[in-house]
Amino acid sequence: MSWKDQFADAPDVLKRSPDDRIIVHAGRVTIGDGGFVTMAGPCSVETERQLLDTAERVARAGAQVLRGGAFKPRTSPYSFQGLGLEGLRLLARAREATGLAVVTEVMAAADAPLVADYADILQIGSRSMENYALLEAAAHTGRPILLKRGMVATVADLLRSAQCLLSHGNAQVILCERGIRTFETATRNTFDVAAIPVLQSVSRLPVIADPSHAAGIRELVPTLARAALAAGADGLLVEVHPHPDQAWSDGEQSLSLGEFDAMMADLAPWCELRARRLQPACALETVA
Ligand code: PEP
Ligand code: MN
Repeated sequence: MSWKDQFADAPDVLKRSPDDRIIVHAGRVTIGDGGFVTMAGPCSVETERQLLDTAERVARAGAQVLRGGAFKPRTSPYSFQGLGLEGLRLLARAREATGLAVVTEVMAAADAPLVADYADILQIGSRSMENYALLEAAAHTGRPILLKRGMVATVADLLRSAQCLLSHGNAQVILCERGIRTFETATRNTFDVAAIPVLQSVSRLPVIADPSHAAGIRELVPTLARAALAAGADGLLVEVHPHPDQAWSDGEQSLSLGEFDAMMADLAPWCELRARRLQPACALETVA
């Protein structure tokens, strides 16, 4: 018996050898090839100005993918629900202006082809991780998929949902740890940092972390981002807004443009260290 046996019902997701890895290609961006990829942008697409200002700044700071919700899963029916198609059009315009790839959430199976027309990566949100009709429709678009861990899902549950995507013919899947529900109330969710090395050790898929939804508190985001990097994540998904206090959703956990610049500068030496550790020749040099 091995502790890894608990993941046996996600067979296509599991590593067949220690360096068995799936590299995800989204536009010109590769995820899972040893680099560290930052996906950043607002929780929701609000206006052209808001999105373009954010996209230009995060690109300059080193992000490679622009995030932004056009279809928003909101816990209240009275909250802003997203701009829908207009939001997708704005994301495509921001990609044209900056060269960033675009990741955005798809909430309904029927919308999958439409979202795939505009996005380089389809996001399956936490609340949808076990929506199997949506997983099937998203897989069939052929676009890479960012699969977020459900807030009450175990690592094994996450891998089973990934298996569902692979079984529908799409292995271009990125796993995302975004915090889970526990008895702790100090943060919005509890960032399960251990899930990162667990996933890296058992699964062939790239793993990224979302410190924004894990923390729920802006000032904690850079520290959780550093922890994710140190734990072996392949990248980050981070909420950034030009005026976080005026954001239409998740402002309290969104970094300002300046805070994002500072976080990226703080992460740079850690990224370098990580790159050196992943290159055997350099690692040997360091030891010598
Ligand atoms: C989001 O990324 O804005 C989002 C709604 O995330 P989650 O599904 O992790 O709550
Ligand atoms: Mn959000």
